[in-house]
Amino acid sequence: MPSKKHVALVAHDNMKDDLLEWASFNRGSLSRHHLYATGTTGSLIEDELDLPVNKLLSGPIGGDQQIGAKIAEGGLDVLIFFWDALEAQPHDPDVKALLRIAQVWNIPVATNRSSADFIVSSALMNETYERKVPEYKSAFRK
Ligand code: PGA
Repeated sequence: MPSKKHVALVAHDNMKDDLLEWASFNRGSLSRHHLYATGTTGSLIEDELDLPVNKLLSGPIGGDQQIGAKIAEGGLDVLIFFWDALEAQPHDPDVKALLRIAQVWNIPVATNRSSADFIVSSALMNETYERKVPEYKSAFRK
């Protein structure tokens, strides 16, 4: 992973205020990295932080899957995903898929503010880092 990381930010509707508050507080740290987000989350962060965000589709119409695809392609280094643990989402299968693919590719994932605080304040955020990528056998590889 490069020292300037590719960071994806996603928040379900009930969690957006939480993510915005967290992102504002950590604006300085986030400004050192490339930011990506699902559509609505991205627009809100761009407005609030006045930082450029690579916006994908809105989560429920494919944005979560786009983030997952970028992780699989090696294009994202960190996932900050404030998912709603108290309300079912129309795209719950996509949510599960995103969390799964982040696990498969061993990227750091924060799913709540405390874990996001720990990740963003880690010295490794601003250093290169050798991420162990599982050696998936050729049977699984194209
Ligand atoms: P949104 O998508 O940022 O477009 O609201 C988030 C999600 O529901 O995954």
